[in-house]
Amino acid sequence: MQSLEENLKECEQLHGHMCAGQLLGARMAMLGCKLVGVEDPRGKDRKKLLVWVEIDRCMADAVGAVTGVRLGKRTLKYVDYGKVAATFLNTESNKAVRVVALESSRALADEKFPSIANKRERQFRAYSEATDEELFAIESVAIELGEMDAPGSPRSRVICESCGEGVNDGREVIRADGSVACRGCASETYYKKLARLTIKN
Ligand SMILES: [Zn+2]
Ligand SMILES: [Zn+2]
Repeated sequence: MQSLEENLKECEQLHGHMCAGQLLGARMAMLGCKLVGVEDPRGKDRKKLLVWVEIDRCMADAVGAVTGVRLGKRTLKYVDYGKVAATFLNTESNKAVRVVALESSRALADEKFPSIANKRERQFRAYSEATDEELFAIESVAIELGEMDAPGSPRSRVICESCGEGVNDGREVIRADGSVACRGCASETYYKKLARLTIKN
């Protein structure tokens, strides 16, 4: 594993700016990897690590930068809990640890460095100097990784009988009448269809 400084440089590059969230995320990722016995997540251990992030904010980019996990490789899983937390799974040993930022870590900056006027600076300094125990709680967890969720080539592909679009990896729904539907057609979509458009070159 690279040093925190080296990791932060790459976080900044990927994320576009340096922020307290990058620092917290980088430290979370380094701790998580260490706890599940992944020493070199972007090198020799790159096939061993899967990470679930529970928020789509700054910290998620830092976890991706430090560990090399990617949504497109199915090594990064996003679960929309709105929590500053992530679970690290070593797929070789099956050891998994969930790391969550403590609510009390948010107050550290004001407690420890009241003399630093700039809030951003205060928070950065606090996250730099805090111990892992001051920042995080950790728990051992079990993860059943289904075949359909594992990295590698798609396991299955079917066509939704309602919209005609392809669905990979078992995400289809079989309706009561036996027909195959995508999740959008079977329940509801996150978008509302307005009109079909024509692509013009
Ligand atoms: Zn940020
Ligand atoms: Zn459909």
